[in-house]
Amino acid sequence: MNGYFDWNATAPLHPAAREAWLEASARFWYNPSGLYREGAEARERLEECRERAAGLLGCEPGAIVFTSGATEADNAVVRWVAGQGAAPVVVSAIEHPAVSEPAAAWLGERLRSWPCGADGLADLGWLADFLGRQRPVLVSLMAANNETGALQPWREAAELCARHGVRFHCDAAQWCGRLPSDGLGGCDFVTVSGHKFGGPKGVGLLKLPAELNGFRSFRGGQQEERRRAGTENLPGVAAMLAAWEAAEVLVSDAAAMPAEPRDAFEARLASAVPDIEVLSRRVPRLWNTSLLLVPRGPNVKWVARLSRSGFQVSTGSACSRGGGASEVLTAMGIPAERTGAALRISSGWSTGASAWQALAARLMALSDEIG
Ligand code: PLP
Repeated sequence: MNGYFDWNATAPLHPAAREAWLEASARFWYNPSGLYREGAEARERLEECRERAAGLLGCEPGAIVFTSGATEADNAVVRWVAGQGAAPVVVSAIEHPAVSEPAAAWLGERLRSWPCGADGLADLGWLADFLGRQRPVLVSLMAANNETGALQPWREAAELCARHGVRFHCDAAQWCGRLPSDGLGGCDFVTVSGHKFGGPKGVGLLKLPAELNGFRSFRGGQQEERRRAGTENLPGVAAMLAAWEAAEVLVSDAAAMPAEPRDAFEARLASAVPDIEVLSRRVPRLWNTSLLLVPRGPNVKWVARLSRSGFQVSTGSACSRGGGASEVLTAMGIPAERTGAALRISSGWSTGASAWQALAARLMALSDEIG
């Protein structure tokens, strides 16, 4: 685990999540829709998890729909908005493919791309100007970018949208578990992914406006107030909540999740290998993420060499593997020939300062070897 630097792709299962999963699987394996006592107990446990999730986000429990992860939740929002009239839908240019792909496929001419600056931050001035002229049905902006780690102005965007009576969606898959989640519940739609903070893979949630009528992501059953049919994954949900609460305790204390080891890593690399570039370095970022452009590509060569030395890093979004140039880097104005030079380094709760130092040393050696 010491060389694992791909936490933005996924985190290891948190011990509290494992325990909660085993407990829920053993005690509450009954179908929560069952009309007998054991079913009712499972249902009660599920509703308790919903209340805890609502407490973390700061919203009503009735606004939470459990899903199979952030991809499903993002797709559900885009699918819903695709059925809402003909008004434009604003989607930031740096969204994860879980938002951008369905948006491109289902919104057609209604889609408006919200540009970002070279620093990877969505341009608030652009949004203010757009909302002054047009009334979109939804605006979508993630909370923290999965590639650069740049913290997006989602609070300001949500306020702007509220002032113009426009619904706002925030994909918080990379934020929750890394920074306090409280306040996100003020957004109309929020998506969360359990495995990014130590929950199991394949579980997440969608927060939506509790009063939204006729929202049906899956049809075929009464579950989740008919908003998402299918037998509920209660062990997964219980495990996600256990991991999320453990992470919230850590992130409530900034000293427990310090950015210093990452910053020291970047400073050391910058002085030893001046032609390594760190993206979004001057803007607020997740404390765990560093996106580098390496001098002598391609990045996959670096990833393979690092892997052989026991370090796991990524070329960007795990989900865009093999999918051509990163949309995020393109939106930031990085020339096409440089987008294949990106190395994403991302740490987690168990990454020590010594692991960052060892990675810096290995990268410095590699820059000589590959050169
Ligand atoms: N949204 C963002 C910002 C992500 O980083 C990811 C995963 O990388 C997803 C959505 C997809 O999440 P999941 O794996 O839960 O479907």
